Amino acid sequence: MFNSIKHHRGRNTVFRFFSRSLPGMAYIKQDSCKLCSANDFDPHTHYFFNCRVILNKFNLKHITQHLQIANYEDEWSLEKSTTHFYLCDESSDLTAIIYHNIWKHVSSILFSQDDKILDFSNQSIISDFDIHRNILKLIHNTPTPADIEHIKCIT
Ligand SMILES: [Zn+2]
Repeated sequence: MFNSIKHHRGRNTVFRFFSRSLPGMAYIKQDSCKLCSANDFDPHTHYFFNCRVILNKFNLKHITQHLQIANYEDEWSLEKSTTHFYLCDESSDLTAIIYHNIWKHVSSILFSQDDKILDFSNQSIISDFDIHRNILKLIHNTPTPADIEHIKCIT
């Protein structure tokens, strides 16, 4: 199921989400969400799919239109996101990048030692995806000198 994901850190986060082994999550003792104060929650599904504070940070329709990813059903849910992982196209990578952006944000809020919050937005998801797309392009095509300069800047 995860072989369709080419984005490495995204694949790692998705794998850990589904095997319920995201670092630190098992030890969360609080019974309400630190972000939206909802109670009676399962941290895994809550932070990734039900937390209104997280959900307000991005808009799938905006992202898929901007990136011109066709046929991406812009509904964010556990069930829908799972279906994307079975498709061997960009929708699987985009979904993994969203998981990864959410996780970076949530883990920095819950576990950061230095109060440094890694925020995310439509723009950070779009730019992570653009970088990923450019790297894939370099791997699959003969790079132009401009591509090489670009990759030097982002790595
Ligand atoms: Zn919440």
